[in-house]
Amino acid sequence: MPLPSFQVSLESNEIITPKVRKLVFKLDDPKTISYKPGQFVSFMLPSDDDRPIKRSYSISNMEKNTDGVTHIEFVIAYVDGGKASELFFNAEPGMTMEMTGPFGLLCLLEELPQRVFLVGTGTGVAPYRCMIEQIKARPDTEFHILFGAQYYEDMFYLDDFNEVAKLDHVHFHPCLSREDKEGCVSGYVQTKLAELNPNPETDMAYLCGNPNMVDEVFNMLQEKNFGVKQVKREKYVFSRF
Ligand SMILES: Cc1cc2nc3c(=O)[nH]c(=O)nc-3n(C[C@H](O)[C@H](O)[C@H](O)COP(=O)(O)OP(=O)(O)OC[C@H]3O[C@@H](n4cnc5c(N)ncnc54)[C@H](O)[C@@H]3O)c2cc1C
Repeated sequence: MPLPSFQVSLESNEIITPKVRKLVFKLDDPKTISYKPGQFVSFMLPSDDDRPIKRSYSISNMEKNTDGVTHIEFVIAYVDGGKASELFFNAEPGMTMEMTGPFGLLCLLEELPQRVFLVGTGTGVAPYRCMIEQIKARPDTEFHILFGAQYYEDMFYLDDFNEVAKLDHVHFHPCLSREDKEGCVSGYVQTKLAELNPNPETDMAYLCGNPNMVDEVFNMLQEKNFGVKQVKREKYVFSRF
């Protein structure tokens, strides 16, 4: 069966950290898309040869206006010499693109345990930004959002995460690996997670972003007897083309 394909046009391209842009697209055709927070889409980007460049990005927000227009938001990190990075960072509003999807299983389950850890590095927190409304609506579960970055200036969506963390059942842990800053944890997300004493009897974890971080945390949780189904993973692996 052919993959669902969507035409989108760029509405805005905003610098949100020295190396991350927030891009908002309007869904042109078809006008609606069925998705679950936590999923990603693949962009089919134009290239010099016949083969389009395919790159995946997590949806960080999706909103439908009262006029029926759907807006889809992404956060995209710059990779030196990266084909898609160059294209997205230079994209002007009005530019049209094609995407397929949504794909992925990094979605909140109907049945959640006592505690859920949402662990992301860099743009790997995008799926958790998208889950905020769902998190608000699940007061019976204690959520811990762990956001890892090198420096404070690399962080984004802080207002959104701090706002949801005002709720008793939500905790936000911004973790900085190369800087000490008041209100932030000094160190890696791995270290903070270990401090929270993950327990397979009561907890599950979602891991997203840098593949090394995802593997390291997954191994740590397996050593604590977490089963594969108790750890959902999305690795931002590089494309081969
Ligand atoms: C499921 C999924 C979801 C993703 N979601 C996001 C997202 O929400 N936001 C986001 O910014 N990215 C996301 N990515 C990564 C994204 O798809 C691209 O891989 C990334 O944007 C780089 O593409 P590029 O064309 O610019 O670089 P490429 O042309 O693919 O790479 C250029 C060079 O840089 C190297 N390279 C590529 N990526 C990195 C990196 N991260 N660090 C160091 N070296 C690198 C390559 O090996 C290559 O040598 C996701 C990936 C997957 C698989």
